[in-house]
Amino acid sequence: MAVIRDVMPAFQLYQPSSIADAQKLLQQNGYDALVLAGGLDSMDWLKDRIRKPQAVVDLSGIAELKGIRETADGVEIGAMTTLTEVAQSPVIRQRYGLLSQAASLVASPQIRNQGTIGGNLSQDTRCWYYRAGWPCYRAGGNICYADTPVGRNREHAILHAERCVAVNPSDTAPACIALDARFVVMAPKGQQVIDAEDYFVGPDLDITRMNILRPGYLLTAIRIPLKWANAEFYFEKVRDRNVWDFPLMNVASAMRVSGETIQDMRIAVNAVAARPLRLKMVEESVRGKPRNAATGEAAGKLAVQGAVPLQFNAYKIPLMRNLVKRAITGVEEAAWAS
Ligand SMILES: Cc1cc2nc3c(=O)[nH]c(=O)nc-3n(C[C@H](O)[C@H](O)[C@H](O)COP(=O)(O)OP(=O)(O)OC[C@H]3O[C@@H](n4cnc5c(N)ncnc54)[C@H](O)[C@@H]3O)c2cc1C
Ligand code: SF4
Repeated sequence: MAVIRDVMPAFQLYQPSSIADAQKLLQQNGYDALVLAGGLDSMDWLKDRIRKPQAVVDLSGIAELKGIRETADGVEIGAMTTLTEVAQSPVIRQRYGLLSQAASLVASPQIRNQGTIGGNLSQDTRCWYYRAGWPCYRAGGNICYADTPVGRNREHAILHAERCVAVNPSDTAPACIALDARFVVMAPKGQQVIDAEDYFVGPDLDITRMNILRPGYLLTAIRIPLKWANAEFYFEKVRDRNVWDFPLMNVASAMRVSGETIQDMRIAVNAVAARPLRLKMVEESVRGKPRNAATGEAAGKLAVQGAVPLQFNAYKIPLMRNLVKRAITGVEEAAWAS
């Protein structure tokens, strides 16, 4: 367990009021800096004395990072917009109900009031060994405590694990991928606009990070194009408790249907791997097919190909198969709406 001492190590707190100033501070402090958004993830690291940054850069005073704006091609959501604002925004509810629903199912009202969309997308994994300061692979060591015969791994990965079997716990991430969102990132060499699915990083690329952000980087906005506005959406989150709980798994999809035929679809799942997974093979397999149980069944089987369970999470394989099937048939959406 983490060694808790009386006092958190001291750090310099910076409260910039512009993106430019925040960037300057982050670049000056490099690996010694921590970005603070709503603090629901980052404050844990500080309070547990596991991360000891020299500088904390608090983004809460930067007005240009807040709010939801309509643009010529959809909407742009500032990274510091709260999850409550995303869930309740009339334009998001009306056009992109998928994201509104995903945001409204995060944790609890208090956490949604404080947590930001940028922080929710950038949050670290919740693997308890790692969070408690155990020196595992992800923390720079040479063992995975979760992937042992006695490891507690009920919530862990069934796909794309490589040494680390932790999962990405974000509810909004798969919704952003299904909506074909793009993330605006300020990097030391300038602005980058990245496809949502490319923002996330698995252990095959870098075991110490969950996303592409490096020292000096800032996520500034999420852009959602018109392309999938008012599509047929499906979001389902399975968790142990109906409030205050991370997903055991979630699925998000956007679909265009003509008559009973699926014209096009984007679908992503999270909490099955260290990054949210877009299921491209499923998308390709359902195009031009009737939207019915047989198509859903076949897509579900395809989705779990290659899945490898750990000691305590075999349930995730039928769960994923069924969530993908339901995303295609839309059964639970009807139940949600009624
Ligand atoms: C009890 C509990 C239950 C929870 N349940 C859920 C759940 O059910 N579903 C779910 O999705 N989440 C859940 N969460 C996670 C919570 O929603 C997120 O931790 C929170 O949204 C993170 O957002 P934040 O604004 O607090 O970010 P912070 O904690 O401040 O930041 C999170 C991380 O992102 C980095 N970061 C944040 N913003 C930026 C930015 N703009 N640019 C660069 N880096 C940035 C920070 O440095 C930090 O590493 C839960 C958290 C708690 C404490
Ligand atoms: S699953 Fe990943 S984060 Fe958890 S103990 Fe193993 S290496 Fe560490």
